[in-house]
Amino acid sequence: MGAEKPIKCLAITSKDGQLEDWEYTPEPLKPGDVDVRVLYNGLCHSDLHVWREDWGPCPFPMVPGHEVVGVVEEVGSSVNHLKKGDLVGVGWFRDACLECDACVKGDDNVCPNGVGTIMGGQKGGFAERIRANAALAQLIPPEIDPAEAAPLLCAGITVWSPISRYVTRSGMKVGVVGLGGLGHLALQFASAIGADVYAISGTASKEKEARGFGAKHFQKIDDVPDKTLDVILNTTPGGIKCADLVNKLTYNGQLVYLGGGTDKVDVLAFDLILAQRSISGSATGGRALFREMFRIAGLHNVRPLIEKIPISKANEAVEKLTNGNVRYRIVLETGDYFKNK
Ligand SMILES: [Zn+2]
Ligand SMILES: [Zn+2]
Repeated sequence: MGAEKPIKCLAITSKDGQLEDWEYTPEPLKPGDVDVRVLYNGLCHSDLHVWREDWGPCPFPMVPGHEVVGVVEEVGSSVNHLKKGDLVGVGWFRDACLECDACVKGDDNVCPNGVGTIMGGQKGGFAERIRANAALAQLIPPEIDPAEAAPLLCAGITVWSPISRYVTRSGMKVGVVGLGGLGHLALQFASAIGADVYAISGTASKEKEARGFGAKHFQKIDDVPDKTLDVILNTTPGGIKCADLVNKLTYNGQLVYLGGGTDKVDVLAFDLILAQRSISGSATGGRALFREMFRIAGLHNVRPLIEKIPISKANEAVEKLTNGNVRYRIVLETGDYFKNK
């Protein structure tokens, strides 16, 4: 095999830095890998958390982008299920061992040998190409627009995973706390499968849209009566007291943390014991869930509301996200940006 062609990309080189042009030489294409020409990237808060080192040290340079949609450009010698020209997406992980118990079950997102696309790997999709294990390159169904597919690869799977696990009967009361990138998709997925959906937000101007996404109720957390909800999905970046959420759960209720990773989960054990309530966390999903999530999204027309911005304006997009001015997901369009570099 000849020398690898460098990959042109945008990278962050320091914690307080801005995205700037960079390139790196990828490791040789393994038999199970694919190379994907990138069309779109969703811009997720986690990209910012990683380079701002909110979750620990980040080895720089770091290439953000873990909601990556593109076209397969090259396939490794052992890849049979994908071919050149297929439209695929790469999410939080771009490699896994495929042999451990979790991987065998299709839960490769909890593989102990997994390689993160931006965390651990640092080689995300803000680039002309991305290289990933073909097993983790998810086929995008033809009925889903490629730009709209991007946010489903992190935000979409992150909310579908706990909904598929805990919303087991039609009519269950599901509270979605926080109406951002994750929350607006959670409302749609939960209502698609027949839940009685509560949008929980302090931003009154979001009520009309929340109802459009399927919410039957729109309330501030303090206005939800105690012992009401079967499932609560906390999608906020943090700051809500755990006990305030737990008290809204009915018996056997389930509180799931999808955000607020640095919050303290501090609650009186009796508040769990007597009503048999549970608190859990969830992050992304494996291959089996990805297939299911795309099927449900296709079937019920679950789509993110996106704002497309050319990747040449990536720094402005980051500023917009930082200022909280996004409804509901920015998608960066690669276009010809790297061709001219
Ligand atoms: Zn594994
Ligand atoms: Zn994400």
